[in-house]
Order: sequence, then structure tokens, then C-alpha cells
Amino acid sequence: MSAESKIPYKIYLEESEMPKEWYNVRADMINKPAPLLNPGTLQPMTAEELGGVFCADLVEQELDNDNRLIEIPEEIREFYKMYRPSPLVRAYCLEKKLQTPAKIYYKFEGNNTSGSHKLNSAIAQAYYAKKQGLKGVTTETGAGQWGTALSMACSYLDLDCIVYMVKCSYEQKPFRREVMRTYGASVTPSPSDTTEVGRKILAEHPDTTGSLGCAISEAVEMAVTHEGYRYVLGSVLNQVLLHQSVVGLESKIAMEKYGVKPDIIIGCAGGGSNLGGLISPFMGEKIRGEENYQIIAVEPASCPSFTRGRFAYDFCDTGMVCPLAKMYTLGCGFIPSPNHAGGLRYHGMSPILSQLYADGYMEARSVGQTEVFQAAEQFARVEGILPAPESSHAIKVAIDEALKCKETGEAKTILFGLTGTGYFDMVAYEQFHNGTMTDVIPTDADLQPGFDGLPNVPEK
Ligand SMILES: *Cc1c(COP(=O)(O)O)cnc(C)c1O
Repeated sequence: MSAESKIPYKIYLEESEMPKEWYNVRADMINKPAPLLNPGTLQPMTAEELGGVFCADLVEQELDNDNRLIEIPEEIREFYKMYRPSPLVRAYCLEKKLQTPAKIYYKFEGNNTSGSHKLNSAIAQAYYAKKQGLKGVTTETGAGQWGTALSMACSYLDLDCIVYMVKCSYEQKPFRREVMRTYGASVTPSPSDTTEVGRKILAEHPDTTGSLGCAISEAVEMAVTHEGYRYVLGSVLNQVLLHQSVVGLESKIAMEKYGVKPDIIIGCAGGGSNLGGLISPFMGEKIRGEENYQIIAVEPASCPSFTRGRFAYDFCDTGMVCPLAKMYTLGCGFIPSPNHAGGLRYHGMSPILSQLYADGYMEARSVGQTEVFQAAEQFARVEGILPAPESSHAIKVAIDEALKCKETGEAKTILFGLTGTGYFDMVAYEQFHNGTMTDVIPTDADLQPGFDGLPNVPEK
């Protein structure tokens, strides 16, 4: 019997095998991600300036381009043990269905109540806020996974949690909202009249259904104008990718245990945190010249920041109150079509992933939402798990790659991130089943205003 045939359907790690340190890929990057800039002075944000918005320890992590390994505090590791290690699944049933020689693995992060990988960073950010003696944190949420994860983390640590939820999601996803309130969060639809920036956006666009960028502006304003509060963000930032490295580290340890090495690593990309976390330890090896993985970011055709965006400094939020980040962006004024139900709606992309993409370490593909839901359904029917629409972008490309192997006869090993479950996305599944789902792909003319609105930052 070959080692291969002994691989179980689900590979779990022992608690003792779980990572004790996060891995900081920036330490290995040759070109470091560009620093966040103060929008007023266009100078790099100092730790002191960032400390007005973010918790002190998180500022340190945000700015740390040098330390390769950062200890995961004991309390966070204890919390992780409630739902981690997450399973690495060999998709035997999907392989059989596709009749592919490819070997497909997925790392499943939907095994907790928040239903996604976001809890990995939520507990870390809440922990550092608590350690600093703060009263609470503010944030935004789009589809609701981040807000749910943060409300779980805050209730565990007895912190106040204030969530601005993109208005269309607030209305379309009442169940998500109630899960957050169950964990004690206060949830406000954004734009709202509780902040100056919200009132301004409402005055200009009274019928707006909101956007992540706009909700971020409100959450930041709420944090900086209230004593004892800081703002936390569920994706994009360097610190979030650092926390999510636990996903990649666990995957790597589990695969090594069975002598398996991926040829292709695939993840969906919204702000880039799950993909960044999944690929980090593999990317480190690639940068150091030890391995040569093919790494693919998958994004929706309706919000194509990597494949059609510009690599430029931009605001992280619509209200233009946040620092500027150098990233692939569609412009902070870009709002994806309301027909787009598949998540991953953020206008920008993690500066770390943006730099790696610009330097040629990874590729990106965009896919339409109908084909994403086809892949989701195909996956659900054979593997059992009901995938989140976001995760299904990765499923789509994993299936594409497995079918290519079927043509060429190559038995490649594919690893993809299955970031979460789709129980709260049944309206989107319903549209798909009823044939009312549409693919809205922006034209170049649709994208132009977003690019025209990019801030003018002179190249250094
Ligand atoms: C938030 C989310 C994503 C996208 O965010 P990233 O920061 O790009 O990882 C993907 N899948 C699920 C299930 C999510 O909740």
C-alpha cells in the first residue's frame, strides 16, 4: 500500500501539533509592502498616529516587517482550541465525481458559529484590546461574517462591540444581525445618522444601499470620537494576514505529516486575509527559492481589483478618513452592482498580496457569479458542506484546475481554502436556483470614475 492510499478523508492535527507562533511573511518578502500613509501629510503613518485608531500591540504587528515568527499568546491559543485545528479534507468524493487524477485538498474554516475563518483574527484583535484595558471596539461588516466573529470574540472577553453593517446586508440578512445581537453586539445599518461621515454620505446619496468603505468610515469615526474605543478591521491589514497565517501553518503541518506537497494553492480574495493566511508559509518557501508553488487568487468579475484594478495608493474607505494603502484597487468610490450576491465586494486588496502579485509570485483570475454558484452546488452535492459564496470562488477554480488535469493526465495536488459555510446566503442560492441570478461585469467606462478618484500620491 502506498502512503498515498492511507490518507484519511479528514486530517486533524493533535492539539500539541497546533502552531504556537504566527508566521509573518513580510520578513521574507524582498520588496516589502508599501507603508500606510497619512492622508494629510502623505508621510508614512507613525506608530503614534496609528495608535489613535488601533490597539497598541496591533500597531506593532502592523508595522513589523522583520520578525518572522510572532508568538500566539496563550489565551488566544486556548480560544483557538475551541474550534481549531480545523480539518484539512481530502476531497475524494469530488475527485471521483470529476474523474480527475488530481488530488484535491481543502482547508475548512467554517466549523465555528461565525461560519468563517474571520474568528482567527477577531479573537486576536479583541484580546489585544482587552489587554490594553479598552472598553470596546468598533467595526464594519458587509455580509456579516466579520461582525459575527468579532461579536463572539468580544463576548468571550467581555468587551463592548459596535458594528456598522452595510445597509443592504442589514436588510437582506436579518439572521446574521440577530446572531451578532445574541453575542451582545450593537448593530447599526450604514450609512447611518450616528456619525458625521454617515450623515454626509446620506445627504449626498439618500438612496444608497451602503458599502464596506462607507461602513469603515463610520466605524473609525465612532472609535476616534469615543474614549476607550479602538477600531478593528477583519481583512486587508498586515496584522490580519498575520493572524490568519494559522490557517496556512496548520495546512502545511498536516500535509507534511502525510508527505504531501501542493502543486497549486487556490483561495478566494476579498480583502485578501484568508488567501494571505493560507499561502503565507508556502509563499515564504517560494520567496526563499525552496519550492515553486503555483498560487492563484480568485475574485468576482463584478469586483475585479487584482485583474482590472490599479496598483496605487488609495483610501481604504469611502469617507476618506482612513490612511492610504498602496494596493490593487478599483478606487474607494467603487461600489459593486447590487445584483452581485457573491461577497468579496471590497474595492481594494491587502498591500502584502498586492506587492506579491506585482512581483509575480502569484496569479489572479476573475469568475462570474453564476459559474461560482454552479461550482458551489456541485461541491455541496458530493462533499456535503454547503459552501459560502465567497469560498465557492476558490471551489470554481479548483474544479477548473482538476478538469485540466483530467485532460493532460497529470496528477497534480491542489489545495484550496474553503473559508466558510453559506447558511445565511440562501437568498443568493435561491436566485441561482430560480434562474434570476445575473452576472454584472463592469465595463471599462464603469470602472473609470473609480480610477479618476484615486488620490494623487507622488511616486517616491
Ligand atoms: C470575509 C470572507 C471572505 C473574504 O475575505 P478575505 O479577507 O479576502 O479572506 C471569504 N470567505 C468568507 C467565508 C468570508 O467570510
